[in-house]
Amino acid sequence: MSDEGVSAWKDQSVQDLIETVQRFIRTEVVAHRETWERQRYVDRSVWRKAGELGLLCCSIPEEYGGGGGTIAHEFAICEVQGTALDTSWGNMVHSGIVAHYILAYGTEEQKRAWLPVMATGEVIAAIAMTEPGAGSDLQAVRTKASVEGDDLVIDGSKTFISNGHNAELVLVVAKTDANAGARGISLILLDTRDAPGFSRGRILDKIGQHGADTSELSFEGVRVPRASILGGEPGAGFRQLMTQLAQERLLVATTAVGAMETALRETLEHVRQRRVFGQSLYNFQNTRFVLAETATTARIARTFLDSCIERHLAGNLDASTAAMAKWWLTEQHVRVVDGCLQLHGGYGYMREYPIGRMHQDARVQKIYGGANEIMKELVARSL
Ligand SMILES: Cc1cc2nc3c(=O)[nH]c(=O)nc-3n(C[C@H](O)[C@H](O)[C@H](O)COP(=O)(O)OP(=O)(O)OC[C@H]3O[C@@H](n4cnc5c(N)ncnc54)[C@H](O)[C@@H]3O)c2cc1C
Repeated sequence: MSDEGVSAWKDQSVQDLIETVQRFIRTEVVAHRETWERQRYVDRSVWRKAGELGLLCCSIPEEYGGGGGTIAHEFAICEVQGTALDTSWGNMVHSGIVAHYILAYGTEEQKRAWLPVMATGEVIAAIAMTEPGAGSDLQAVRTKASVEGDDLVIDGSKTFISNGHNAELVLVVAKTDANAGARGISLILLDTRDAPGFSRGRILDKIGQHGADTSELSFEGVRVPRASILGGEPGAGFRQLMTQLAQERLLVATTAVGAMETALRETLEHVRQRRVFGQSLYNFQNTRFVLAETATTARIARTFLDSCIERHLAGNLDASTAAMAKWWLTEQHVRVVDGCLQLHGGYGYMREYPIGRMHQDARVQKIYGGANEIMKELVARSL
């Protein structure tokens, strides 16, 4: 299978990291996949091991305990996870999302309190936006954080929270002023180790991504110091979310491209060895056309992703283009995997075949990180 060579954003340090991550995913993640899929969460030990290898928060400055790299290093880790079909280890949320909220908006004290322990894996992080009554419409969140003296008292519930079962740090989206609309939303750093009234509900039973913990969280009179508001600025949460979400969308898009390339490789291997009607499945024109279409889609996807990542690294990726990348690449991801599964016949429907697993795991890509319809709204608004 020919390709266009190494993406320009993968400099030597990114390429070195990719090799380490590939090894790590093979030996420390994929090796435990069945256990984690049964229990529906990853063991905490994987976070510690990742921390020891410098794989956590590798895009956070060294002065805060991180690896001193750039966000390209996080994209690279996501891509390796996508390629290796790992959807269980929630590092994207931890290092690619929560750590960057803290770095971008946290007070010096918040950065020093949280980033070093996130980099070692002592603390696992989650972000809790979604509620039973508020997903796409973030302004509709009902979780509130009421001011009582020097404290905030949090009441409400969240659902679908990645890393929710394991997290010591939850970045909670809550209303500090119920009458101020988007300007009443704040992001609150909650230390779950010291939070009477905080509880974890079910680990949800998903149709795919079984090793990833996706949990319900509940807050009943949870008291935190007012200084726990991210950046110490009440009412800044919605603006902070809107600014950071573009990066989150690109991280999701990166896993989609890695997975598409793996789907193509897996399918090529299968059709070359599978014989039907006395010949290789590869020889049928339909097979060749599907493969040609898949290879073309994967190439365009890679080219678009690379251009988005390069623009993001240069600081000039607009929110609309990030939304385009999220909806289009995840749409292609699901479509490509479905076409590739078809060429596997019944074997494709078996989870022991990578393509079967990919099919189940891919579907949510069009929903989380902002539903694709919301992405199209963002694009349309910018035209
Ligand atoms: C596996 C998984 C992991 C997740 N991890 C996290 C996490 O870590 N933290 C977190 O906060 N959330 C998380 N989520 C939640 C996720 O971000 C939401 O599910 C998503 O934003 C959609 O919200 P919703 O499910 O409430 O759907 P709804 O908002 O009810 O939307 C349902 C559907 O309606 C359509 N729709 C909605 N609005 C519009 C519109 N304006 N125009 C046209 N169509 C529209 C879309 O098709 C959408 O899919 C996760 C979800 C899953 C499944």
